[in-house]
Amino acid sequence: MSGKAKAPAPLRIALIGARGRMGQAIAAAAKETGATIVAALDVGDDLAAGIALGDAVIDFSAHSATADVIRLAVAAKKPLVIGTTGHPAAEKAKLAKLAAKVPCVWAGNFSVGVNLLFALTRRAAAVLGSDYDVEVVEMHHRFKKDAPSGTAARLLEIILEERKLTAAALRHGRSGLTGERTSTEVGIHALRGGDVVGDHTVLFAALGERLELTHKASDRAIFARGALRAARWAVGQKPGLYDMQDVLGLK
Ligand code: NAD
Repeated sequence: MSGKAKAPAPLRIALIGARGRMGQAIAAAAKETGATIVAALDVGDDLAAGIALGDAVIDFSAHSATADVIRLAVAAKKPLVIGTTGHPAAEKAKLAKLAAKVPCVWAGNFSVGVNLLFALTRRAAAVLGSDYDVEVVEMHHRFKKDAPSGTAARLLEIILEERKLTAAALRHGRSGLTGERTSTEVGIHALRGGDVVGDHTVLFAALGERLELTHKASDRAIFARGALRAARWAVGQKPGLYDMQDVLGLK
């Protein structure tokens, strides 16, 4: 015996949506992190055969594919990471139930920094209380078709939960004779322009001081690295539905 510690075997990934922007980013990030894409799957490929080859499945394809991906991963008992977005809420709830039969990490944003921003926002909202006015500002590239972003929507959910407010408190921009700001409103402002990958700022403003929490994404590699980290974490977890807050130990 040499006495040398054996290097861990590379994580084998079955990647769905492999020809897309995120699929390519994940393949590039896998090279950095010692994971191997054993099946690069896209439209028309035999998903079941590819999934059988992996230690885990990562899906960044289209929301219309998610039901099949979950069914096949559950049948093959493979841990699953879902990054695909755009599911109607009722469909997502139904699919999430099925996905929980294997260890499944499902997140609308796999950036480690954004997930820490979620946790910091919750903490700041709890500590600062209603003396501090909260406003969220997001900026994205000129091609983005929806507003506010999914990440901004999650930040707002967290703030509303901590402040015990409902969606009626949200103010999407302001114009005209709005009157003085009340302590029970939460502002949300969406800026669009250029090639901005995704900026989010949460402002807490009181009389005499202001705290700003800002995250700026400049490369989709951050989502790819987060998804690979989630896949590594999911292998060996009990079946269930998890998110990036679980992966990062932020709960
Ligand atoms: P894209 O359009 O560039 O790529 C999607 C790929 O999936 C394409 O190659 C397409 O052919 C393939 N595909 C579609 N249906 C399929 C099916 N039934 N079977 C197999 N392959 C299929 O899109 P993208 O920018 O790579 O984004 C993919 C998804 O990931 C989107 O839903 C996007 O919103 C989401 N996304 C999530 C995060 C996150 O952090 N969770 C980050 C970025 C993008």
